Amino acid sequence: MPEPLTELERGVLDCVIEYVQRHMYPPTVREIGATLDIRSTRSVSDHLRSLERKGWIERTRSRSRGIRVITTPGSRGTAAVRVAFEPAQPADAGWMQRALARARAAQETDEVPVGALLVRDGVVLAEGGNLTRTLSDPTAHAEMVVIRKAAVLEAGGRLLETTLYVTLEPCAMCAGAIVLAKIDRLVYATGDPRTGMCGSLGNIVQDRRMNHRVRMTAGVLEDEATTLLRGFFRARR
Ligand code: ZN
Repeated sequence: MPEPLTELERGVLDCVIEYVQRHMYPPTVREIGATLDIRSTRSVSDHLRSLERKGWIERTRSRSRGIRVITTPGSRGTAAVRVAFEPAQPADAGWMQRALARARAAQETDEVPVGALLVRDGVVLAEGGNLTRTLSDPTAHAEMVVIRKAAVLEAGGRLLETTLYVTLEPCAMCAGAIVLAKIDRLVYATGDPRTGMCGSLGNIVQDRRMNHRVRMTAGVLEDEATTLLRGFFRARR
């Protein structure tokens, strides 16, 4: 977990985050100095160094803009993604087991093993697995399958006060659907460094510019979900 920050370090970090959110890439030392009205670039560099030492950012050596920002204690944020993960709740592992069962069932029909489950007040509204091959539909991800099933039963198609459990971090499409459906909480097992848009490549579900934001927990039964996916892709090679 990153160490606490001084007020000045916090100011520099906030400046970096805001810049990244506006421009999609981190600021240079000079740009940070100009924004915060700090004359000495050395002083900015010192703050960046201590942010790095305390575990809040990572900087690549080759380019001055290469700042990876880790903004929340205990987060797995990468590549300038602002992400806030909540700790898991006691019931999460049980629900994720059930989503994993859906993922295994999907695998038996030669689908990429991803499963999802939508829960409200301890009641399952819908569950399902990936169906992209079965339906020849690239949008038939497990999350979409579940959201569509549950939404037809709800007034206005909104899934208020629900939690979506999914075995793999949602992609851009699914993250967008989660926001549109106004799902309250998202719990996923394993991150997806290639298409994940809920903390890995970006964070659609917690973008402050959107009109709905989603609480998020990651890493619930991560090993099981990762093993399942790895096994599937290994067998296909
Ligand atoms: Zn998706």
